[in-house]
Amino acid sequence: MYKKITLYDKDIESLIEAENKRQEEHIELIASENYVSEDVLKAVGSCLTNKYGEGYPNKRYYGGCENVDKIELLAQERASELFNVKYVNVQPYSGSVANAAVFMSLLNPGDKVLGLSLASGGHLSHGYKISFSGTFYDSYTYELNAEGKLDYDEIEKIAKKVKPKMIICGYSAYSQIIDFKRFKEIANSVGSYLFADISHISGLIIAGLHPSPSEYADIIMTTTHKTLRGTRGAIIMTNNEEIYSRINKAVFPGYQGGPLFHQIAGKAVSFYEALQPEFKEYQKQLLLNSRVFCQRFINKNVKIVSGLTQNHLFIIDVKSSYNLTGKQAETILSNLNITVNKNSIPNDTEKPMITSGIRLGSAAMTSRGFKEDEFIIIADLIDKALLEPNNISLHNVIKKEISKIANSFPIKKFYLMK
Ligand SMILES: *Cc1c(COP(=O)(O)O)cnc(C)c1O
Repeated sequence: MYKKITLYDKDIESLIEAENKRQEEHIELIASENYVSEDVLKAVGSCLTNKYGEGYPNKRYYGGCENVDKIELLAQERASELFNVKYVNVQPYSGSVANAAVFMSLLNPGDKVLGLSLASGGHLSHGYKISFSGTFYDSYTYELNAEGKLDYDEIEKIAKKVKPKMIICGYSAYSQIIDFKRFKEIANSVGSYLFADISHISGLIIAGLHPSPSEYADIIMTTTHKTLRGTRGAIIMTNNEEIYSRINKAVFPGYQGGPLFHQIAGKAVSFYEALQPEFKEYQKQLLLNSRVFCQRFINKNVKIVSGLTQNHLFIIDVKSSYNLTGKQAETILSNLNITVNKNSIPNDTEKPMITSGIRLGSAAMTSRGFKEDEFIIIADLIDKALLEPNNISLHNVIKKEISKIANSFPIKKFYLMK
């Protein structure tokens, strides 16, 4: 468990402690979550939160920025090295805000964008109608094919028809390898920008376990809190100096005010950790775990969207496999202290708040030390629980089992640098 925090405000103290306990007692399978190191927590909880510094290093609108300038420059340098890119903006508050800034830097309101649909695994900020991206821009979608895979010929056809100013690749719920080179060829063939949103897979890319978009995409964005295992937030990267200057203007003053220096320091610390050899080992284990976990379900004839995963996540079609909605499956598992999220599947007939799928990921539990054997046990327990959703005595047994496993893999410092 993370260190207990004591506050004069007992209301918040007890709620933080309750959350600390929940995190310790639950098997965390939400693919976008992870456990940061105590070093990252310390940086995020530091005096840096007091500091204002609108602008960029050595060009601020405030005095007293000599230390935060160095912190921001270090964060940029480390991200540059990790992702093999020339220019990095480390100020975005979150992935969605970063994406808004990416749109602003390459597009004018009303311009056409092309992204994967939300139901197929895209992100809200990739053109969905209720987000900024579908409200202020003219958004079009491509879908996964019948095997649940990207169909590049089909994407090319749609791109030729739509002629978008920007094509988006990189997703929230896609388990297969993305061919960035092919995407670049498609983008070039219609004269559009290529934007790679690698929020989910950035840790795998750093470790060389997924191809990198660095030589193909005009802009790359990643959140810092998923497989990258840092504080919440995001960074935007490019190799093009002119685009970099547009990104900087779009982040500040375009969308944001003062940078959150505690958050930037948290990012810098997580980049430092990601540069250590242990991080590569972690990513290798996370990938192996995810594949073994997914294969275990496939062996039981459970239907997995897109088939065997090639990254840290996969989607179970719980409707065809267990005759449950995603929402029901999420609740059943939550009652057993297994945390997952409901997730739409391609051509889902259920609404986004119900869905027909659940998304599972290996990043968080791999941080707690899970190896293949533990993921096999968890797959068996999930399968049993969903096959008999109303068997209370069975569920009581499973819950005890889960509690035993969670207790033997406490959140601790094993991935901290000595
Ligand atoms: C998580 C995610 C985002 C958004 O990140 P937030 O920090 O939640 O705003 C954007 N794009 C993709 C592909 C994501 O998976």
